[in-house]
Amino acid sequence: MTISITDRLASAPSITKGADWKTFLLKNPWYPKRFLVAHFGIRTYDLDNWKGNHPEVAQALANPKTNFHIAERSDDVRESLKKAWRFLFEQVLEIDFKSDGAANEIIRLQGIGKSAWGFLCDSRSFKKIDGYDEWIAEGYTQIAFVVFNIYPGEAWAHAAGILPAMFSQTGKLLTRSELIELLENIYLRFLASLPSKPSDEEINEAKRIFYIRARENSFMTTAMLRPYGFTGHMTPHGVKDIVLAVRHKFGVELGLETDVKDSWSASKFRKQYPDRHLDQCHYCRRAPVDLHHLLPREEYAELVFEGENVVPLCTHVHAAISRNKISLDSAKELSAATSAWKTAKKGVKLRAFDDAMRHLHKELY
Ligand SMILES: [Zn+2]
Repeated sequence: MTISITDRLASAPSITKGADWKTFLLKNPWYPKRFLVAHFGIRTYDLDNWKGNHPEVAQALANPKTNFHIAERSDDVRESLKKAWRFLFEQVLEIDFKSDGAANEIIRLQGIGKSAWGFLCDSRSFKKIDGYDEWIAEGYTQIAFVVFNIYPGEAWAHAAGILPAMFSQTGKLLTRSELIELLENIYLRFLASLPSKPSDEEINEAKRIFYIRARENSFMTTAMLRPYGFTGHMTPHGVKDIVLAVRHKFGVELGLETDVKDSWSASKFRKQYPDRHLDQCHYCRRAPVDLHHLLPREEYAELVFEGENVVPLCTHVHAAISRNKISLDSAKELSAATSAWKTAKKGVKLRAFDDAMRHLHKELY
């Protein structure tokens, strides 16, 4: 039976049992008075008396190098917070950072702010640390900041297969390639049940299983991914979209699929669709044309030879899209059209791009 993080936080830390409260407090000057009273069975009066009658005690407890509550310098705050978080992780939560299970326990620590230990998440302290604001602006959470920048640190997180995005994001959306990296990492490090130091053969077997089973609805669900920070709202086209992109990546790595960049052939497409008018622009009737993928082939491997994903497009507009030389408004409109294409019924998907392409022509001619 496992004990939840919340339950563990509610119980008194085992370190305090039988310990001398004065020595304990001098070692952990940031420790809250209410915890001290509860965990050692002393009275607030005892503490005030000790501090009041001994200036050296008051001075030690008010040392900015050891107490993040009063520290101002970035390095002092970080060092003091490091001691406090280390205490919480190792003494209270009893996480063994050398064990295989530590990564799983750390990722689940998302709700700590609401516990009695929430004071360790006080943003007034964090804001004094250099780089914290930039980190939060990236959409990462405080806990992710702690793990990567305070304790146990980036090297440990890297070895454990933890990415900052695994701690539920606070708003900013990840790019498609970041989501692919995240999902691949979650699967291979946590869901594939590989040994802690897998061989290439074992990794390839896990990739092959993913490749074969990825299309099954129950194989990789949102519920399975959520504990690792991957949620449905991170991707506008759903988790399945990313699952299939990872499947393609694995397929290429295993030699079961060709990289789409190499597989596309305009002449092969023309032969597949002999009845389509592929020699003038679908939108302006100009020639010459390029065959254009509405949903880019690098990202949508499975749609490379999909008839409704390929249109003849005048070379001028095609070049502007390929080189990203279009206005931000047009880029946004194309992105919205991509979503509309996916939900449109078969047979009318091309129309999803009509407005965006008409506006783009107006912009470029
Ligand atoms: Zn055109």
